[in-house]
Amino acid sequence: MTFEEIRNDEQQYMMHTYGRFQTALVSGKGAVAKDVDGKEYIDFTSGIGVNCLGYCDDGWVKAVSEQAAKLQHISNLYYSPLQTAVSKKLCELTGFDKVFLCNSGAEANECAIKIARKYSFDKYGQGRQKIITLVNSFHGRTVTTLAATGQDVFHNFFFPFTEGFEYAEANNIDSLKNCVSDEVCAIFIELIQGEGGVMPLDKEFVSEIEKICKEKDILLMIDEVQTGMSRTGAVYCYQNYGIKPDVITSAKGLGGGVPIGACLCGKKLADVMSAGTHGTTFGGNPIACAAANEVLSRITTPEFLKEVNEKGEYIKEKLQGMANVSEVRGMGMMIGIVTEKDNAKEIAKKCVENGLLILTAKNLLRLLPPLNITYEEIDRGLNILKKVMEEN
Ligand SMILES: *Cc1c(COP(=O)(O)O)cnc(C)c1O
Repeated sequence: MTFEEIRNDEQQYMMHTYGRFQTALVSGKGAVAKDVDGKEYIDFTSGIGVNCLGYCDDGWVKAVSEQAAKLQHISNLYYSPLQTAVSKKLCELTGFDKVFLCNSGAEANECAIKIARKYSFDKYGQGRQKIITLVNSFHGRTVTTLAATGQDVFHNFFFPFTEGFEYAEANNIDSLKNCVSDEVCAIFIELIQGEGGVMPLDKEFVSEIEKICKEKDILLMIDEVQTGMSRTGAVYCYQNYGIKPDVITSAKGLGGGVPIGACLCGKKLADVMSAGTHGTTFGGNPIACAAANEVLSRITTPEFLKEVNEKGEYIKEKLQGMANVSEVRGMGMMIGIVTEKDNAKEIAKKCVENGLLILTAKNLLRLLPPLNITYEEIDRGLNILKKVMEEN
């Protein structure tokens, strides 16, 4: 098939929910993807933070293909040693107590929201159902996670949205305190707002939130869907902040390229979700769990995390001196670039034309390279970016 044929079929047969770059990717290895015409691209996106071991990593392929040949699905009516292995690893890496396995970030967040409301219902009865989230956040595309998302543009068309969310301004503790009341059961935040433009929260703001939560028995829940899985140089970003949340959610990088999500909670919440209160057909699927076990055993060692931080610093340093760059921010290998000419969308498009896959978030350029990208691949990508930034 040619690219034109693929594009025409997409137009004819698919809902027009995505603005796509003009390329059809068909294969890849490491941090290099190939399109249908055989053109190569350096990948600074990991498919939006998913392929943390790059394309078709040998160990990952082996884990997935062996599992596919052994047992592809069983349903949650039976025990699975793959599910227990993933859950045990997640608990051991974080100190959390219990895991619910699902299929996506939005689903992990739905689980967190349900835990918060049921914990409060069980303990205090009805009326303590509000959840504070942050302005400019992103928590997913279901009707409830859209409501949790603190951006007006997402609160349209699909009325009525799930009630009970209030939005405080990021890094503004007075705004947050104004939202706190006897009706609040949880505060649910990203530590670095990803889709919102790679906006890290201040440590003091986060510590202050943790204090308020402790005082009032409000759950502190962190959406680690984008910041988790070693992306920010710690297995989960909350570990960079020195806090102990009640709940975290994870997805994107967890399966290294197959759909899997997880919601983790501490001891206090261990028994909130009882039989019949939550479930999913595909959650904890054996192939997805085989992938997650491989990913978790590879990307969480101290040496690996050190490399994520070093590569992140290397990239940031190179970006600082580049034409059209006015600010570089983020942690580890979650990096946002503010452009002087405010032309991130155009730059991203030109980068793709020149063989570099790169993301935007709001009016920023955003980099989420595979965590095991080589320095050689980083340099190749940065050279393309440099050229495009100089010419546009
Ligand atoms: C991507 C993302 C989600 C949604 O995840 P899906 O897998 O697309 O449902 C939720 N929260 C954050 C912070 C994300 O980056």
